[in-house]
Amino acid sequence: MGRVYNFSAGPAVLPEEVLNEAAQEMLDYNGSGMSVMEMSHRSKPFQEIIDTAEADLRDLMGIPDDYAVLFLQGGASQQFAMIPMNLMKNGTADYIITGQFAKKAYSEAKKYGKINVAASSEDKNFSYIPDCTALPVSDAADTIYGTKYKELPDTKGKPLVADVSSCFLSEPMNVSKYGLIYGGVQKNVGPAGMAIVIIREDLIREDVYPGTPTMLKYKTHVDAKSLYNTPPAYSIYICGKVFKWLKRQGGLEAMKERNEAKAKILYDYLDQSRLFKSDVNPKDRSMMNVTFVTGSADLDAKFVKEAKEAGLESLKGHRSVGGMRASIYNAMPIDGVKALVAFMKKFEEENL
Ligand SMILES: *Cc1c(COP(=O)(O)O)cnc(C)c1O
Repeated sequence: MGRVYNFSAGPAVLPEEVLNEAAQEMLDYNGSGMSVMEMSHRSKPFQEIIDTAEADLRDLMGIPDDYAVLFLQGGASQQFAMIPMNLMKNGTADYIITGQFAKKAYSEAKKYGKINVAASSEDKNFSYIPDCTALPVSDAADTIYGTKYKELPDTKGKPLVADVSSCFLSEPMNVSKYGLIYGGVQKNVGPAGMAIVIIREDLIREDVYPGTPTMLKYKTHVDAKSLYNTPPAYSIYICGKVFKWLKRQGGLEAMKERNEAKAKILYDYLDQSRLFKSDVNPKDRSMMNVTFVTGSADLDAKFVKEAKEAGLESLKGHRSVGGMRASIYNAMPIDGVKALVAFMKKFEEENL
């Protein structure tokens, strides 16, 4: 079988060029006579891999010098605990709850302090972004936490923490507006098993929540430059290749244009379809994760099954919301989106 168009929300599609390069280097990385998978993380070739990956990421995102970049295990979910343990100086934070993962982050943070919900869209199954123009930010709050916004909340000078897992590197972002940015790489960047954390210097502290394990202190990893213990070496290597690939595509401005064009093809079709519709508030639509329904669970299931037979994989929606979800991350070619829309048109004709 050839390659399918994989719309999985994560682990997700990676650039074919990157996979081919990795295949070429599988048995002998750069004359070392071994795979990167077999290589000591203290070796010179690996040091070069991690240093280059960090430099390329800094370059792509324009990360200022007073921010550290960390490659950490534990995925994005581990950050749900690390953030409150490391950042809550006064034991208080405000959270904006805009999705299932933000809700999990909030539940975890409650173990470590007093957490206020500054805004939430749970009332409508997270189908919109709450108005954050005049947030009731607590005077005592140490940090504000949220997911994806077209306009950033006004945090009244408090450090803003953002989970960018699903939109990481899909468009430029102004790093200096955040105290901490993190994302699991398996959505839009690389293989599962790693989170990237970008943290401002003043938030890297020794006086963290009492009893915080050494491995969960940002300072441990900053001091050791992500090599305190064995890092997710192969994931770092592939992410490094993806950073190079992104640079070859023209960087994050070019990715944004391409991603907007891809999303537009799908939303334009959805907006005129008589069978499929999108439930998300139009102004809060995601460029990366496009959800839609037919209105009938049976028809949704039929669609997912027939799409799979046509080489369009993993279109089933999240288990908490049902329906369909097409994740169209950076590495999804525009032809994949066109193939999906062509299939949807055909399905609409046959099933209306
Ligand atoms: C997928 C996802 C997570 C969870 O990531 P893990 O690496 O599996 O822990 C957290 N937050 C957001 C926004 C996500 O999309």
